[in-house]
Amino acid sequence: MSEVPGLPPAHQLLLGLARLGQAVRMEALRNAGPYNLSTLQADIIAFLHGDPRPRRQGEIVVGLASTAPTVSDAVRVLRAKNLIEGTRDPEDARAVLLRLTSAGRAEAARLSVVSGTLSEAISALSESDFAAMLRGATTVMRELQERQAIPISRMCLTCRFFEPDAHPQDVRMHHCHFVDAPFGDAELRVACPDHDEVDAASSSR
Ligand code: SF4
Repeated sequence: MSEVPGLPPAHQLLLGLARLGQAVRMEALRNAGPYNLSTLQADIIAFLHGDPRPRRQGEIVVGLASTAPTVSDAVRVLRAKNLIEGTRDPEDARAVLLRLTSAGRAEAARLSVVSGTLSEAISALSESDFAAMLRGATTVMRELQERQAIPISRMCLTCRFFEPDAHPQDVRMHHCHFVDAPFGDAELRVACPDHDEVDAASSSR
């Protein structure tokens, strides 16, 4: 029996994920909004919005897998646009802590709305395919994080409040001990403001 043509399955999956990433970036470019945000400026706003703590610029560099000069330029522009503000770090007089202004939080809310094109495409998935895709994406992300190939995300699979398969008979099989509630694969979080990283040595997920 002949094999189907083309590159091997793992390569096909990576090509498909790359195409999806391309679609997300293209939508971000179309969504520059009233402040004409670049994709990096939008990523910085989303990064600061995803974690309630004020952040040092170095944390943004690591979190977005960027470089210090590139982030420094984008932060300078965002401060000029009055979307982020800085205050002295009480633990280090040379460092600045960055946070969103009220205009920045409004931009973060605007950026969090998924475009019609992307949401319509995602709605083509069945419930089970959606859940399997989210579970698969977070599993691959965790593996890449462990290999230090991508920055750490504030996701369930690396959260100390996450108990996988705590309710094996239920469609909502996992448990979040932060809110003390069950939830399923379709509700897994990739960016959660309440995430607290699990001790790597005790993790077997
Ligand atoms: S706190 Fe957030 S990241 Fe942690 S388990 Fe609950 S939903 Fe997931």
